[in-house]
Amino acid sequence: MPKCDLKTRYIPATFAWTLLLGTTSLFFYFPCQYYLLRHPWVPAYQGVITFFVLANFTLATFMDPGVIPKAPPDEDREDDFRAPLYRSVEINGITVRMKWCVTCKFYRPPRCSHCSVCNHCIETFDHHCPWVNNCIGRRNYRFFFFFLISLSIHMLSIFGLSLYFIMNNNGKTLTEVEPIVSMVIMGVIALLAIPIFGLTGFHMVLVSRGRTTNEQVTGKFTGGYNPFSRGCWNNCCYTQFGPQYPSYLLIQENALVRAFCRQRYRIIVHYHPEVGQ
Ligand SMILES: [Zn+2]
Ligand SMILES: [Zn+2]
Repeated sequence: MPKCDLKTRYIPATFAWTLLLGTTSLFFYFPCQYYLLRHPWVPAYQGVITFFVLANFTLATFMDPGVIPKAPPDEDREDDFRAPLYRSVEINGITVRMKWCVTCKFYRPPRCSHCSVCNHCIETFDHHCPWVNNCIGRRNYRFFFFFLISLSIHMLSIFGLSLYFIMNNNGKTLTEVEPIVSMVIMGVIALLAIPIFGLTGFHMVLVSRGRTTNEQVTGKFTGGYNPFSRGCWNNCCYTQFGPQYPSYLLIQENALVRAFCRQRYRIIVHYHPEVGQ
């Protein structure tokens, strides 16, 4: 599997953090001063939004996305040569294939995929995001989604507040530093608006349909039934309030998880029928 150079992996994430922190700091240092005495709720409200953006960005970046640890070399090796490449499981009446991961030495559970950048199998793999230098999977998708939502609100809010400041800048000419900084902030936001709002809208559609980016771009359920969907409303609730799964990196029983992944017989899985359609 190709592995990215460690240094180049950090470049997009460093750029994203620098841009986010730089633009936000400029806003608080320059145009926000205008609101401090006139409308003190504005810095407080913007501070809360900034906190949400940074907290979700941090969690999406540093959280274990749902890594299934590789099988240790001593684990059950004798059947590797005889094992077929695929196993099938039945989920809500649909047969789903589980592929043998040559690197990790187990059958990938449904929705799991091997990330060539991280070199790990990730549960409910969505995509590898270079901007957070991490995979987006079962455990951190929620925070990635919240990050996109809060970032969109953050950008709209800062753009509006900077524009209002320029229009009511108490006789300051447009050549002074505060209006210039405000225009730079608005320019950066205008450049990023289409990709960020587009990505946020795309993930809103994915959440409502109960799909991952990986399933969408590979056209897995095109024209067919998605056995993982719980219905639009329940899909949205599940993303926001569903259980937070434990990290297999922290628990000792990860051999049990792989034992499931190595089963040789047909498995019937009812996918959370209590919240099903
Ligand atoms: Zn793997
Ligand atoms: Zn990855």
